[in-house]
Amino acid sequence: MKKHNFSAGPSVLPEYTIKNSAEAILNFNGSGLSILEVSHRGKDFIAVMDEAQALFKELLNIPEGYQVIFVGGGASLQFAMIPYNLLQKKAAYLNTGVWANKAIKEAKGFGEVVEVASSKDANFNYIPKGFTVPEDADYFHITTNNTIYGTEIKHDFDCKIPLVADMSSDIFSRPVDVSKYALIYGGAQKNLAPSGVTFAIVREDILGKVDRYIPTMLNYKTHIENGSMFNTPPVLPVYSAMLTLRWLKENGGVQGALERNNAKAELLYNAIDNSKVFVATVPNPEDRSIMNACFVMKPEYAEHEKAFQDFATAKGMIGIKGHRSVGGFRASIYNALPIESVQALVDCMNEFESQF
Ligand SMILES: *Cc1c(COP(=O)(O)O)cnc(C)c1O
Repeated sequence: MKKHNFSAGPSVLPEYTIKNSAEAILNFNGSGLSILEVSHRGKDFIAVMDEAQALFKELLNIPEGYQVIFVGGGASLQFAMIPYNLLQKKAAYLNTGVWANKAIKEAKGFGEVVEVASSKDANFNYIPKGFTVPEDADYFHITTNNTIYGTEIKHDFDCKIPLVADMSSDIFSRPVDVSKYALIYGGAQKNLAPSGVTFAIVREDILGKVDRYIPTMLNYKTHIENGSMFNTPPVLPVYSAMLTLRWLKENGGVQGALERNNAKAELLYNAIDNSKVFVATVPNPEDRSIMNACFVMKPEYAEHEKAFQDFATAKGMIGIKGHRSVGGFRASIYNALPIESVQALVDCMNEFESQF
């Protein structure tokens, strides 16, 4: 039976990425050696790193003055690296859920943190609006896509102080005006590659402004100056990321991705909104993520939650159980998920619903 992979992360990747990663494990560039057993300083891997960085810049139209780096430690290490490198006195954060909270917790270890606004009062089911960012803060941190709650900031806004964004789960899902950001980062395992590599797009002029000693491996400058090769990079995830970006380029770039993602999100949210059994957890369509759609059963059908889970599993739906802090269901519909899979889920919901 065909599996439809709605996992939140690690998650679905293009078949092109999976097949060619597998091939490189067996025989990298026809060398007769595995990519797993050759030097990262050899010319074949240096070409991979160069192409991955070049495709990042090309596909996101990254302006001059920015550097793309690949490091380890996940987005979670960036929660600490950002204040380590940027927080001199005070930083501003938008609190939109679990990941934002983890970022806030780390920043508090380095200075004063102002929580500009929060959607905690409604279990983070909306994006706060109309907040004021203190102009004397060193930077303002946002989480553009809240993977757990299915909310998303889908536009790039102006900010008078350096804007830092966790784009772990929506990078490459839409065109981004990188010039509005000072730093964009994320773990690769949602839309790009297997876990193990973290990307950061850094505007160089924000660095070098804090007084503290920054450990070598946690200093952005180290990775920029050494082309992400200061130490051994996560070789296979970088290779897979490069493949995913090649695939994206062949498929209309980020504009093509946005059109496909909008079509998938519309199909799914329409089905939820027209359902007598299911209801979306994010009421405002403007705030709804095009990457993670969260829905629950209406109270009068709540007892059938497990039955739907089992029904969907039997039909090949993988990873639709909601995060424990939201409950219900979450369908992650990342770039590589085909619309046919969304249609299969919608058919499954409709079929389940027809018994009532
Ligand atoms: C998954 C996720 C993280 C955590 O990423 P790791 O690479 O596992 O540290 C952080 N932020 C967001 C928005 C995420 O979706």
